[in-house]
Amino acid sequence: MGFRFLSVPGHRVVEHPRALPDEDRLEPELPPLPEAVERALAGAEFRDVRARDRLRALLQGDRPPKLGSPGKGFGPSAVFAQPPNDLPAMLRLADELEMLARREAGERALVWKCTECAARYAVPVSLVRPVSIRCERCGNPVELNVQRSLGEEALVDPFLGAVNNCRQELASFFREAMARGWPVLVSENARAPVASDEGE
Ligand SMILES: [Zn+2]
Repeated sequence: MGFRFLSVPGHRVVEHPRALPDEDRLEPELPPLPEAVERALAGAEFRDVRARDRLRALLQGDRPPKLGSPGKGFGPSAVFAQPPNDLPAMLRLADELEMLARREAGERALVWKCTECAARYAVPVSLVRPVSIRCERCGNPVELNVQRSLGEEALVDPFLGAVNNCRQELASFFREAMARGWPVLVSENARAPVASDEGE
């Protein structure tokens, strides 16, 4: 299931089955990876409820969402946050997301290259000791001292990088929507269509 966030001015919100207008939209640029969006929200809270639980309750709870869909392939929307009441909670959520992104982007590594065969060695900065190792590939000694390092790089894997981008993107989207005084709506992509549902 992929969540989609969107914000439009309050007076432009329409009820399902009408679709939300294309003009005056604010939408975060999230990667097309539902798992990354879910993971981005993991560990973040909104009004003392885990953000993901709130999304599930809004979209998959007993009362189905009633507001317009953001577009093809997505179901009706629900209000995730409504300013001004939810403004403080939204700003806290934005802070939390940015903090999580910073924390998880924190680990860095120093990189060396074998002078014989160019094999790369990356060691987390916290574990770097000035030792000499034998290159696994060619057996040449590689001096792991800081002066000979090629430099630092982030140890974040591509998936975590996407998760952190989601967090930053969502945080600035939430802040911008609150600054404009617009409600934040959420929907999820419709279940895979079956033949009889065509044209819905
Ligand atoms: Zn080597």
